[in-house]
Amino acid sequence: MASRCWRWWGWSAWPRTRPPPAGSTPSFRHHLSTQEKTPQICVVGSGPAGFYTAQHLLKQHPQAHVDIYEKQPVPFGLVRFGVAPDHPEVKNVINTFTQTAHSGRCAFWGNVEVGRDVTVPELREAYHAVVLSYGAEDHRALEIPGEELPGVCSARAFVGWYNGLPENRELEPDLSCDTAVILGQGNVALDVARILLTPPEHLEALLLCQRTDITKAALGVLRQSRVKTVWLVGRRGPLQVAFTIKELREMIQLPGARPILDPADFLGLQDKIKEVPRPRKRLTELLLRTATEKPGPEEAARWASASRAWGLRFFRSPQQVLPSPDGRRAAGVRLAVTRLEGVGEATRAVPTGDMEDLPCGLVLSSVGYKSRPVDPSVPFDSKLGVIPNVEGRVMDVPGLYCSGWVKRGPTGVIATTMTDSFLTGQMLLQDLKAGLLPSGPRPGYAAIQALLSSRGVRPVSFSDWEKLDAEEVARGQGTGKPREKLVDPQEMLRLLGH
Ligand code: FAD
Ligand code: NAP
Repeated sequence: MASRCWRWWGWSAWPRTRPPPAGSTPSFRHHLSTQEKTPQICVVGSGPAGFYTAQHLLKQHPQAHVDIYEKQPVPFGLVRFGVAPDHPEVKNVINTFTQTAHSGRCAFWGNVEVGRDVTVPELREAYHAVVLSYGAEDHRALEIPGEELPGVCSARAFVGWYNGLPENRELEPDLSCDTAVILGQGNVALDVARILLTPPEHLEALLLCQRTDITKAALGVLRQSRVKTVWLVGRRGPLQVAFTIKELREMIQLPGARPILDPADFLGLQDKIKEVPRPRKRLTELLLRTATEKPGPEEAARWASASRAWGLRFFRSPQQVLPSPDGRRAAGVRLAVTRLEGVGEATRAVPTGDMEDLPCGLVLSSVGYKSRPVDPSVPFDSKLGVIPNVEGRVMDVPGLYCSGWVKRGPTGVIATTMTDSFLTGQMLLQDLKAGLLPSGPRPGYAAIQALLSSRGVRPVSFSDWEKLDAEEVARGQGTGKPREKLVDPQEMLRLLGH
């Protein structure tokens, strides 16, 4: 499979290989010019990483052709299936991705799962370079007893459910309890808490002004919800929360809900925040004010009449999900009380030996997402949950790159993902220019199409997606929503006549 060009520069030298020196041999220059003409590149995954990588490659190389393969029949990854349904402005990036997909040198092939329908070696054979941008599709398990009980659910599945992710569409969480506990204090935890606590009439108002694409099924269950209190539990303290200020402010201002913060958790913090970086300082000041200062008259009135509440529990590490007396579902969480050791980023929570039980009827674990290995031929660091790489070049596999969450782990917003995807694109183009990618023409999609067809896989093109998009928008019109998402892949394929 290796081309002459590969052998010349040696597999083992990757990715530390330097570009070939000026004045290389004529045969090398010949390879360089052929492969530079129309590089066929494929990207796996159509979330922000996939689309931003494609955008960079198309913009910076006037001949490059990019095929994007996506396992779902629909594009955009977590922008569609993760970003909260009451944050429509965040989804505007879809317009940029759509422009990229409309480029004559870009194609989208949905309904193709790499690793199942086509292998990475097959893609590498068909393309000059392959970029893995398939995100982080699993949730991190807490690995504590009771985690499998009914009434326990990952935040990832809960988010997938309200956002219409096909595999979670039938989740139907039981919201008949009074108290929910969310384990973790990141932005996903805040998203979930906000969706759980937003009053039904506020959701209706969002509907009326076309500001939410939450699924019909989720809206129905949330309307009937009896959850009144949501605790967000962190193993460390207020200075270590993982959520950000904008999302906290939104929580503080949430209609019909009041915050519960224990001023004792904030003792001595005023002095410590002087030394922390500005964004963390502003976030902690907001927490501190909310916990310790008297609210203004408007806020005081709002909180006094609130029927729902959310609270932050600090210095508590989950040890066990407690079963109900009949053992059939979750009834609480046992938490180890912790104290902090170490300074700065290295601050760790260590148990003091004390335990505390927090009763609840619903446990949502929100301690992060996790990438999966995609193909046995691709190196994978299962401890860190990433593909080992140097600036996006997959270690020891020439011509293979990665970007986004599978490259750097499941943290960072869309803008961070954009920057790192541009960097991967840049590395790929540098290697192309340096003659480090296979020489000679590559068949690209033509070869993959033949394989897929022989395996009975019917890819969904971008224009197919636009038909589904139009159908979703039409279905939403009757209800005042920007769209009513299709949640069943079989129905999507039927609508396309596949
Ligand atoms: P993804 O967006 O997950 O895209 C990966 C794509 O690869 C998916 O479409 C997936 O279906 C596809 N795929 C997976 N496996 C395969 C396979 N084998 N074959 C083919 N395709 C495959 N950031 C913000 O800036 N603002 C927000 O409001 C915000 N909200 C968020 C809410 C949640 C719940 C989460 C989890 C994250 C949020 N983020 C937000 C962060 C943002 O979503 C990420 O930074 C970004 O989506 C990561 O991009 P990615 O392309 O690496 O992964
Ligand atoms: P995250 O920001 O990494 O937060 C994970 C949380 O889980 C942290 O509080 C962490 O605490 C805790 N945790 C991890 N392991 C734990 C364990 N074993 N026991 C107890 N607690 C544990 O992850 P996320 O919330 O899933 O968010 C992922 C990324 O998406 C983030 O970058 C986030 O900003 C982004 N996002 C952005 C938005 C937005 O912009 N509105 C919305 C959603 C998500 P420790 O710090 O102690 O490890």
